Amino acid sequence: MAVRSVSDLDVKGKRVLIRVDFNVPLDEHGSITDDARIRAALPTIQHVMGKGGRVILMSHLGRPKKPDKKLSLIPVARRLSELLGTSVNMAPDCVGEKVKSMVDALAPGEVLLLENLRFHPEEEKNDEGFAKELAALCDVYVNDAFATAHRAHASTAGLCPYVKETAAGFLMEKEVKYITRVLTDPARPFAAILGGAKVSDKLEIVENLLEKADKILVGGGMAFTFVKALGQDVGRSLVEEDLVGKAREIMEKAKARKVKFYLPVDCVCGPDPKTAGQALVRTIQEMPSDLMGLDIGPATAKLFSEALDGCRTIVWNGPMGVFEVKDYALGTMSVAKAVASSPGLTIVGGGDTDAALHASGLSDKVSFVSTAGGAFLEMLGGRVLPGVEALEK
Ligand code: AMP
Repeated sequence: MAVRSVSDLDVKGKRVLIRVDFNVPLDEHGSITDDARIRAALPTIQHVMGKGGRVILMSHLGRPKKPDKKLSLIPVARRLSELLGTSVNMAPDCVGEKVKSMVDALAPGEVLLLENLRFHPEEEKNDEGFAKELAALCDVYVNDAFATAHRAHASTAGLCPYVKETAAGFLMEKEVKYITRVLTDPARPFAAILGGAKVSDKLEIVENLLEKADKILVGGGMAFTFVKALGQDVGRSLVEEDLVGKAREIMEKAKARKVKFYLPVDCVCGPDPKTAGQALVRTIQEMPSDLMGLDIGPATAKLFSEALDGCRTIVWNGPMGVFEVKDYALGTMSVAKAVASSPGLTIVGGGDTDAALHASGLSDKVSFVSTAGGAFLEMLGGRVLPGVEALEK
């Protein structure tokens, strides 16, 4: 990546503004239910503190359009303070005179957390004036929020031209490094596993990976649009009718490029995802017309696992079935096992896939689990992320 790393900067005594992703889940009492995102930002924060930088942190939380007490970052400041073992100052806002004076009062190694950026609609509008106000708070800007790098907001992209020095934080660096490696120089064979509900969400990725991967394995609800494109009846399974032609075109392209394209050969069917205890395994050819395919079947799980055997790079996004329901979770678990047992470079991303991997207890057996959903998908789809591009400039 043609982007400077935070480790290359001299931050001593400087005001270092770090964009982090503290968009943590909260329960109804406003308590943090999972602090993984706060933990993920610690290496960059501790590095800057250790080098004598004056740390200013900024993040969004939720989707407020104006100030909303329920989405204050105060609980995050508390948790961060516990994790760092030092007090974290909380600003009442992210811009303005009071914030400026709090920044000026920061001593080297001290930490200030700005209040939720999205209390100002100018953040998401990438408003120039707002971006300049944020930029004026610092000497150095570090972006460590890969999960929001696909958005051109004031704090992720807009402020960059107004800051003297910019760099990527360790988390951002790691995410970009892994995904770039897969897209530009993968060890081969390179297999991509795609699943989830809809083809429409994954079209860009399938098309981009057709030019990079040696094998593409498709499961989940999205597989049925491809199966239908082969002229097969798929009962009441999810099908995006308007994309059947596109699915056929993709498979023709795969054939022309000699990319091996794998689809389910059997599935676990049921009346709907909610009715328990009525799951049946059927080959694709024998799918009952009144049922839905809700998971890949055991023959497909075996086929996919054999296809992955010996691959030196594997990327996985999207569950193989309705993994949230026990009757339809086995296919996703078997793919998780196959990915986890691969000695190659294995990268998993996307909220649901991450959750499925967690549920299987195999998260620490893959090379890298992306913290991002949208940004991971967009980068795999070949898009330039505004938050990354801004650092490159
Ligand atoms: P996505 O966000 O596109 O990765 O989709 C994830 C969702 O797809 C999960 O909530 C799954 O329950 C759902 N899903 C996976 N396979 C199927 C299927 N065969 N039919 C319906 N929904 C599915």
